Parts: sequence; C-alpha cells; structure tokens
Amino acid sequence: MAIRLALVGLGKIARDQHLPAIASDGRFELVAVASRNAALDDVENVATLEALLAGGIDFDAVVLCTPPQVRHRLARLALEAGKHVMLEKPPGATLSEIEDLRHLAEVHGRTLQATWHSRYAPDVEPDRAWLARRPVRSAHISWKEDVRVWHPGQDWIWEPGGLGVFDPGINALSIATRILPRPFFLTEATLHTPENRQSPIQAELTFVDTAGAPITAEFDFLQTGPQSWDIEVDTAGGRLKVSHGGAKLWIDGVLTHEASEAEYPGLYDRFAQLIGAGASDVDVGPLRHVADAFLLGRRLAAPAFVD
Ligand code: NAP
Repeated sequence: MAIRLALVGLGKIARDQHLPAIASDGRFELVAVASRNAALDDVENVATLEALLAGGIDFDAVVLCTPPQVRHRLARLALEAGKHVMLEKPPGATLSEIEDLRHLAEVHGRTLQATWHSRYAPDVEPDRAWLARRPVRSAHISWKEDVRVWHPGQDWIWEPGGLGVFDPGINALSIATRILPRPFFLTEATLHTPENRQSPIQAELTFVDTAGAPITAEFDFLQTGPQSWDIEVDTAGGRLKVSHGGAKLWIDGVLTHEASEAEYPGLYDRFAQLIGAGASDVDVGPLRHVADAFLLGRRLAAPAFVD
C-alpha cells in the first residue's frame, strides 16, 4: 500500500518539485494539503495541519514545505500524532529544535528526514568519489544569485530564522560537507545586512579543514547577469569544479560528467527507504556552519534592499 502523504505549505518548492516528485513515485500517494492561501485539485484541502489532524483524514506522513521558522512546531505536532516527517531545508530555525525533533521521532518510533536536496544533484556522488582519492589543497565556493529573480515576495527569507543569503548558501554547504573528504570549521565570516532587513544579503566565509586546507565561500544575493552555483577544489591530483549546483562536473577545465537533474525524486526515494527501514536521517552539518557564521561573523551594514 502506498505511503499516504499530507503536504503542508503549498508554495513555490511544493509546486515546482514536491508535487511532480510525488506524482512520479508509485510508493507515495498525496491525500491532503494544508495551506492557508492555496489549494490543490483532487485532494483534501484544509488551512492548517491542526485542522488536518482533527479532521479524521487517514495519512501516514507529513511533508513540511513551509518556511523554516514554523517547521519545529508543525513537525512536533505531526510526530506526536504518529506521522513520519520530511523536513524541507533548512530543517529548522535552530539546532536545538532539530535535536528536539530527533528525540521525538525516536520516542514515537517514526521516521524524520532532514532533506538536503542539493546533495541529490547528479554530480555530488561522483565528486565525492573523485575527491576521496586526491589530497585537497584548497576549495572555493561561489554561490551568487539574484534574489529578485529567485525569491520574489518571500518576506520570510529576510525575517529572523529565514537565513537571508544563507537560504541558497546552505545548499552549497550541504554539497561541500558531502564531497570534501575532511571536516572543516569556520574561522572568519563577514555578513552584510541591509539596513531595512534582519538577514544578510551577502556573506564571505573562511573555513579550514582538519589538515589545514583553506576553504573560502562567497554568497551573494545581488548577482545580476550570469548566476553561479559553483564549487572549485584544488587537489594534488588535479582541479575539480562542480557547477550549476551540482549538475556539471569539470576536471582540469574539461566537462567530464553532466546528467539531468533529479534531486527531489532522490529525496522521496530516500524517504521511502527510511520509512521501510524504520530509520531517520537528520544531518545538521550544513546548518551548524550557518549557525557558526551567525555566531562569529563580523556584521556590516548594507544599503536598504528594495524588492
Ligand atoms: P514559499 O513560496 O514562500 O512557500 C511556502 C509556503 O508555506 C507559503 O506559500 C505558505 O502557504 C506556507 N506558510 C506557512 N506558514 C508560513 C509563514 N509563517 N510564512 C510564510 N509562508 C508560510 O517558499 P518556498 O520557496 O516554497 O520555500 C519553502 C521552503 O523550501 C524553504 O525552507 C526553502 O528554503 C525551501 N526550498 C525552496 C526552494 C525554492 O526554489 N524556492 C528550493 C529548495 C528548498 P500558505 O500561505 O498557503 O499557508
């Protein structure tokens, strides 16, 4: 029997990625949507998860596609009601609330999946395998996009807990923590926050790995023209570049691997496997680096941002 899903927060990512991925995977059936301002044909529609849980609709798992600030409260409700839970990235607004959810999932014997969709980009595992065999000397992350194009009207991104430019930047960190062979730690950060917003619009970060190799990152929400979602790694055995958010792999300047994107089908495949195995997957590594940047970062004021 299919795993019956309820999706909460029918916004951009739910429509762009979750609905097609669910529709293409016979192990799942979407039975309900809880969204205050949106509805979907052919499923039960309610405004809130509370209404869904009170309404007597049968379902097994909840997919949380809301902004991160409200994720903990919703995940708690779902786990306490005995549902499995998939968390969009970032898994929550703080590290501690995710620990609470991890514990709650254990207590209730339910699956909790903290998703990092960029890790399912086609070149992430090939990158990881290539780098595992070559000593890393340095790495540079360039994650630069135009917030006006990619996040129009998403006010939550600028609120506390919305992460600002770290909302896309955490995707880069999710890839870096997967492909780089050694753990790394933040040593310096500069965060530029518009005077009329709560969250940074640009950030520069410096990390060092456990063997002393430097790793730098530039996150920019004001990029116009060509956008970049690239990580370059210099090793003793050549130079790797992963571009387009993990879709293209270059070795010493030559495109060596490219495949079509299937991140969300990969996430749902993993969710089905975890539920089948009675397991959870809750890696907070990328969010820990962001929290470190907020702890250690030098704050600079940036000009007011007008959407
Ligand atoms: P979005 O377009 O703003 O959609 C989120 C939906 O959540 C809203 O439409 C809203 O639906 C609901 N919601 C519930 N409580 C809310 C609140 N307090 N404030 C605002 N909305 C609330 O955002 P999104 O782009 O889909 O992003 C959602 C999550 O997915 C974020 O964590 C983001 O990082 C992640 N994500 C986004 C993308 C992307 O390309 N956009 C890619 C990967 C991951 P109702 O008003 O109908 O309740």
